Amino acid sequence: MRTDVVIVGAGAAGLLAAVAARRLGHEVLVVERTASVGSVTADSDGHLWMPGNDLMGRGGTPSDSADEALGYLNGLTAPADEMMAARRAAFTRTAAVVGRWLVSSRIGLEVVKGLPDCRPASDGAKSQGRTLRAKAPTARLDDDWAGRLRTSRDAESPGLLTRLRRGFRDGAALSAGGALVSELLRRALGSGVEIWLESPMTELLVADGAVTGVRVDREEGDVEVHAERGVLLACGGFEADAELRKQHLPGPTSVSWSVGGDNDGAALRAGAQVDAALAELDRAWWTPVLLADGSAHRVDVARVAPHGMIVDIAGDRYFNEAEPGVWAGQRMYEHNRGQRSVPSFLVMDKRHRKQHDLGPWPAGSSPKAAIEAGELVRAATLQELAEGLSVDRAGLLGSAVAFNQLAKRGRDTDFRRGDSAWDKHFGDPLLRRNPCLGAVDRQPFWGVRVYPGDAGTAGGLVIDERSRVLRTDGTPVPGLWACGGAAATCFGGAQPGDGAALAAALVEAFRGIIDLSDQLDRIDEALA
Ligand SMILES: Cc1cc2nc3c(=O)[nH]c(=O)nc-3n(C[C@H](O)[C@H](O)[C@H](O)COP(=O)(O)OP(=O)(O)OC[C@H]3O[C@@H](n4cnc5c(N)ncnc54)[C@H](O)[C@@H]3O)c2cc1C
Repeated sequence: MRTDVVIVGAGAAGLLAAVAARRLGHEVLVVERTASVGSVTADSDGHLWMPGNDLMGRGGTPSDSADEALGYLNGLTAPADEMMAARRAAFTRTAAVVGRWLVSSRIGLEVVKGLPDCRPASDGAKSQGRTLRAKAPTARLDDDWAGRLRTSRDAESPGLLTRLRRGFRDGAALSAGGALVSELLRRALGSGVEIWLESPMTELLVADGAVTGVRVDREEGDVEVHAERGVLLACGGFEADAELRKQHLPGPTSVSWSVGGDNDGAALRAGAQVDAALAELDRAWWTPVLLADGSAHRVDVARVAPHGMIVDIAGDRYFNEAEPGVWAGQRMYEHNRGQRSVPSFLVMDKRHRKQHDLGPWPAGSSPKAAIEAGELVRAATLQELAEGLSVDRAGLLGSAVAFNQLAKRGRDTDFRRGDSAWDKHFGDPLLRRNPCLGAVDRQPFWGVRVYPGDAGTAGGLVIDERSRVLRTDGTPVPGLWACGGAAATCFGGAQPGDGAALAAALVEAFRGIIDLSDQLDRIDEALA
């Protein structure tokens, strides 16, 4: 079979690429391994960190520019090399263009109000406005395709309020990520993009070092698809592959700690066929999780909320529990080199449990099965809790005394929890002095093990600022582009803002399609 462009993977980035390629007049085939579209984005918040977007400078949000965003990014971590610097510059210049393109495609975007960048005190950071999300869809997908939007296996207990809000946003209770995916899918189908589900790419077709298409495993047998213009790998990372995790991620690690997709490293296997360079393989979009019934659940609000603290096996606090997820995961691994902190332990008192959901366990619940299984520990005293969690007793008691004094003063002089606008955003607004600090002193006490989970891996194929896949000798592989989880992140282990992973995936997909259409120079000149 022949087509112009083959896109491997029907996540948000693959779908955006498909719509963009079709708009540029190409025939497009999307091949998707699973029976559903949208991957994890379809049931996520779908936050997009898009600096310089057109909504900034309006409605109380600060103004922004690509230069400010680039300064902020490079201040967080220096770019590893010139290529990384060029990719970051391309990202900050193009994010607003992609936002504009979505709006011109009638996919409404809105600011996530009050959400600051992850390091709000750094130069070039913004107090709000860079994180966007899709508005509710303007029309419904037909029922057959609507049923193929992936639902999350994490279901991160979004809480009643979030569910209610979603319910009001649209009748189908789609998340903002679901809205984005459903709108992109509707446009893809409406414009004539062909989508094959349950059709994994098994290998690239390569001739004289150039990629000419893909081999696809279909029910009726193997199909060779030749792509006249090129192939875009939008097939994610390797979070679901135990061997690759063991080989590349810091240890210990487990597939069961991931709330990411089912991606099994297809991009790495494809890259090996063309001697592609790999980078950042030890990085992931870390997010602390707890385990319940064998699956991972994010611990976001629960670790920031007052009346709780995280300790290592010695019972000591060792970081600001309110850190953005990527940094929190890194701290857990760094600290683990000296003192066991994988897993760590979230210790809570009665008020915490009463007020906050914890993984799958609603606020105020006392889940019998989880307690019996030892997943959640309940104890009358901190001594008993330490025993139940196998944490050093004296260490935990000492930490609780120190923490409670800090809470009383409203100032975490040890780790500065609650100091930054980011921390405050996720804290309890009713606590005036410090929305993230409250003593851990009311019985019963509760404890749960917390692991450095992930929402997908962040390393992969080295791409340039055109999203072309590069060989180990630095030259581009003709005919091959990659984006998102398939490619190495350009953020170098930093989490600049909520929605950076997805925004980068969309921008890279967009730039790749424009490049394979030979129009990127024109766009870049206009942006210069
Ligand atoms: C619960 C959750 C919430 C998140 N929320 C956000 C957020 O709000 N903002 C943000 O920035 N990031 C978020 N992330 C991370 C973000 O979703 C990912 O970074 C993003 O989805 C990566 O996009 P991608 O297109 O590269 O990969 P994916 O979205 O995973 O898409 C890859 C697609 O390729 C398919 N595929 C894999 N192998 C093959 C093959 N061999 N052949 C054909 N198809 C294949 C997969 O089935 C999948 O459909 C979240 C992650 C999780 C888990």
